[in-house]
Amino acid sequence: MSQGSSQQACSTNTPIKLIIEAMVADGWSQTERQLSQGWDENIWVITSATFVIALIATLLWQCRPDRILSSVGYPSSRNDWGASSSNLLKDSGTQHISPSYLDASIQLDLSRYLFPTYSHSHPSIMAPAAKSKDLSQNRAIKIVSAAAAGGYAVPAMCCYNVEAIIASVRAAEAKQSPVIIQLFPWAVTYADGLLVHAAAEAADKASVPVAVHMDHAQTPEIVRRAADLGGFDGIMVDMSHYEMEENFALTRELVEYCNERGIITEAEPGRIDGGEDGVDVSELQGLLTTPEQAEDFVSLGINWLAPAFGNVHGKYGPQGPQLEYDRLESIQKQVGDRVHLVLHGAGREWFKEDLLKKVIKCGVAKCNLNDAMNDHFVDVLKAKAGTAPLTALIEEGTNAMQKAIEQYMDWMGSTGKA
Ligand SMILES: [Zn+2]
Repeated sequence: MSQGSSQQACSTNTPIKLIIEAMVADGWSQTERQLSQGWDENIWVITSATFVIALIATLLWQCRPDRILSSVGYPSSRNDWGASSSNLLKDSGTQHISPSYLDASIQLDLSRYLFPTYSHSHPSIMAPAAKSKDLSQNRAIKIVSAAAAGGYAVPAMCCYNVEAIIASVRAAEAKQSPVIIQLFPWAVTYADGLLVHAAAEAADKASVPVAVHMDHAQTPEIVRRAADLGGFDGIMVDMSHYEMEENFALTRELVEYCNERGIITEAEPGRIDGGEDGVDVSELQGLLTTPEQAEDFVSLGINWLAPAFGNVHGKYGPQGPQLEYDRLESIQKQVGDRVHLVLHGAGREWFKEDLLKKVIKCGVAKCNLNDAMNDHFVDVLKAKAGTAPLTALIEEGTNAMQKAIEQYMDWMGSTGKA
């Protein structure tokens, strides 16, 4: 049969055509129904899937590691870390951040780019960590309390530059010794807090216990400024140039101010004679500390006490230090373990192993060292300035300071105590 006759047969077979048309029509309506049912099912599946995905995303967001860290007091990103670093770790939560956390903060910084608006505006992320008044977690107090209990003293290095900070931490790590980085108010006024922040970061990154302490803060204004700046674990509230009653009243007020910010305090009943670079009370006559005065200061809630028992800032006379060991012992006996004693005036010229061991035996647990470290830096500059590149001067100066500190760690018995 030809193609033409077939088409003709179909077109002329009307009942069959109607049946086919009816079947097709019925088939379309079935298809439509199926499609319609399928669309309803798809809508349900899509809606459910969207809900589940949203739920999982929300859970993942809530459980992000940086959010968890933020909730327990850590900064949530490198940017936030920088902000709290500017506030200088004024809470104990950020005082004990380990080097591994600093690494983690860099990794977690991705959140800034993944969630740029949220991570920079959400209050729970941006809010600084809650301040802690729990001074038992203060690293300065831990370092010195361990020294007092162990019968040795911690070197407290008076730093004027980054090189001294580096030398202190390197010496501590080399000798496995704790150390305290000390800065005078000069460091705050000269560098607008940058040296303090450098010291705090060095302390955070160190593999051994390191604390940052302000030495001789001599006005209420500088005490408050240092406490608000953050970064200091301790501040010496030195109102010793006021008369005793005013010294007492101001110290009480400022101790409270510091403690509220998680910072421990050192104070000076009596008056240590002389002056040193960065602090000058040389126009005032020294007043030796009595056990009664020491007791009064303990009642103010101070943590460390700097007694005047014949020690002086700066140079001693030709006879050397005329120290009253009986006075020191009676002060130690009076205060017991409630506060720990600090030696000021441990000048390079006289305070070597023998003398240091004597005062440590009388209860001194922290020795401030100034020229004992810094003179070595100056010696390198004197010897090589103009003949060696600046980088070589800096590195050699740092190495010379490190070597000097290491010797004091051996003399004071802090070596191996980290
Ligand atoms: Zn001093």
